[in-house]
Amino acid sequence: MQQKGFAGIRFPSLSYTCRSRLLERSDSFDGTLPLLGKILVIIVGILLPVALAFAAAGHLPGTTWPVIALGATAFTLMAINLVMAARLPGIDAMFDGLDQVYWVHKWLGMLILTCAFLHQQIKIATDGLQVMAAISELAIQVAEISFYLMVFLVLISFFKRVPKMPKITWEIPYGIWRQSHRLLGVVFLGIAFHQFFVKAPFDNNALLAYYLNGAAAVGAAAFLWSQFGFLVRRRAYKVTAVTKHPAATIVDLEPAGRGVSVRPGSFAFVKFSAKGLGEPHPFTVSQVRPNGGIQFSIRGLGDYTRHLRDALSVGDTAKVEGGYGRFHHHRGGPKQVWVAAGIGVTPFIAWADHLKPGDAEQICMIYCIRNEAEGVALDRLRAAAERVPGFTLKLHCSDTDGRFDAAKLVSYLPFEIAQASFWFCGPAPMREGLVKDLKASGKVPRAIHFERFEFR
Ligand SMILES: Cc1cc2nc3c(=O)[nH]c(=O)nc-3n(C[C@H](O)[C@H](O)[C@H](O)COP(=O)(O)OP(=O)(O)OC[C@H]3O[C@@H](n4cnc5c(N)ncnc54)[C@H](O)[C@@H]3O)c2cc1C
Repeated sequence: MQQKGFAGIRFPSLSYTCRSRLLERSDSFDGTLPLLGKILVIIVGILLPVALAFAAAGHLPGTTWPVIALGATAFTLMAINLVMAARLPGIDAMFDGLDQVYWVHKWLGMLILTCAFLHQQIKIATDGLQVMAAISELAIQVAEISFYLMVFLVLISFFKRVPKMPKITWEIPYGIWRQSHRLLGVVFLGIAFHQFFVKAPFDNNALLAYYLNGAAAVGAAAFLWSQFGFLVRRRAYKVTAVTKHPAATIVDLEPAGRGVSVRPGSFAFVKFSAKGLGEPHPFTVSQVRPNGGIQFSIRGLGDYTRHLRDALSVGDTAKVEGGYGRFHHHRGGPKQVWVAAGIGVTPFIAWADHLKPGDAEQICMIYCIRNEAEGVALDRLRAAAERVPGFTLKLHCSDTDGRFDAAKLVSYLPFEIAQASFWFCGPAPMREGLVKDLKASGKVPRAIHFERFEFR
């Protein structure tokens, strides 16, 4: 089903995405090593288990060592996936953002499933009952139950709707999906039990045995941290203002003690004490105040965000966890294009607030909305444009200016887009269309940055 988009344009899905990705090169080093995480996953999760499986069982006949390699790879990747889901500090820098962490996590889930399936099938096909009788039946049974549970959980995460049937728009509600996804930690513990007690055809002193026991310990610790880490990660805040803007509910918060550490462009998970608002949801911090106060600008896109508009009041308490994300324009070089569509404006508002008159960058921001009434924080964006000579703001109102496209984007810029980095936050189809058309016309920005506004 097509949904009314943020700038009055129709898009196929409600959720808009925003993700950082280096198109050609990164402009400057800011502690982000986007390839490091993926390289580590390949070395630690695939190459090492395969090599250690070969060392432990390469001398055995038949398919023994590939079967062990497949099982060891699936298990190590599961441990890595639990680490990636635990929101540990530094992990997002290795993947260039938490959204990227979750994207890799999702694809690893499919790889794990494939390895586990092949491990099981090849073993049964080649060794049959002969080896089955020699190993712990319980460990085998636990692994089988865990495997089928994993198949179910991974598939519902991967295909949130029925694949290839765009007309079926119902998807598993996020809360139910989140609770069910937690069971993957229990699946991991079941597989750890299997790997520990199954009678393996290699020595207990083989390096592989130590490696897998280490993976079990790391995965279990990560699972515990992901379930209970919020006890130390969440900070208490008080709601000091709730403003009902036509396009968003603007919520101001002050820390009740030590607040979270956020930068303009970061996002945080927030939940409120008001009835029905107890589930943490991610929102970009649209204002970072010097006293530690923060602001969220929240568009009513679903049950929670619509309910919040009426249910939240001044004096309510909030629990905030963050800040996360690597969507920070200071690594964008001397010329930058910022394109915001609808509520995708939130990181740009926080950035614009922090621009100073002496900043050397030349920045052109284009804000796509249906009409001026829909503009969130227009006063602050205009104040930034007056205060900072290098910052220009262009409003694109689709009601009067028509559809926003690559040609209009280029025409608004006071410099060549090929010299600039491109920062986008808005619906994914809009971004994909712009980038495709820019490429087709040979006007490719130096780098493209966006961040996924969806984790599943
Ligand atoms: C990094 C990030 C930053 C965001 N910043 C903003 C912002 O500044 N302003 C804004 O209005 N919106 C923002 N969003 C989107 C916002 O989180 C969703 O619109 C909101 O959670 C939807 O909840 P709902 O129950 O109202 O809608 P639903 O219709 O229930 O959910 C719509 C979609 O939102 C996602 N979602 C729902 N609940 C959760 C949850 N608890 N945790 C994670 N994802 C969930 C799911 O993908 C779901 O398919 C951001 C999202 C992300 C990931």
